[in-house]
Amino acid sequence: MSINVFRCTHCDTTLFPARYLCPSCGGAEWSAFEAEGGTVTAATAVRRRVGADNGGDIHLASVATEAGPIVIARLDSPVEIGDVVSLALDAQHRIVARRD
Ligand SMILES: [Zn+2]
Repeated sequence: MSINVFRCTHCDTTLFPARYLCPSCGGAEWSAFEAEGGTVTAATAVRRRVGADNGGDIHLASVATEAGPIVIARLDSPVEIGDVVSLALDAQHRIVARRD
């Protein structure tokens, strides 16, 4: 499943997630389009609680999408700033990234 970002039809501001009103011009009409990938701008790992199932760290990255908005994505493995990743939604509707 792909993720959608939203562009104000009035002033071309792009956002994720969607909002009712554009913060730039106050417009309320959006066109949605797919963000298939982007570039990692920050990355970190969150250590799971001791005793939690599926041990191991959760890797998170800020990804600047090709479309403009920055999204926070989960990853299976660590990435570094500048890595190019593809984006998708998992079964729980979380954004997941994969290094291309
Ligand atoms: Zn606008």
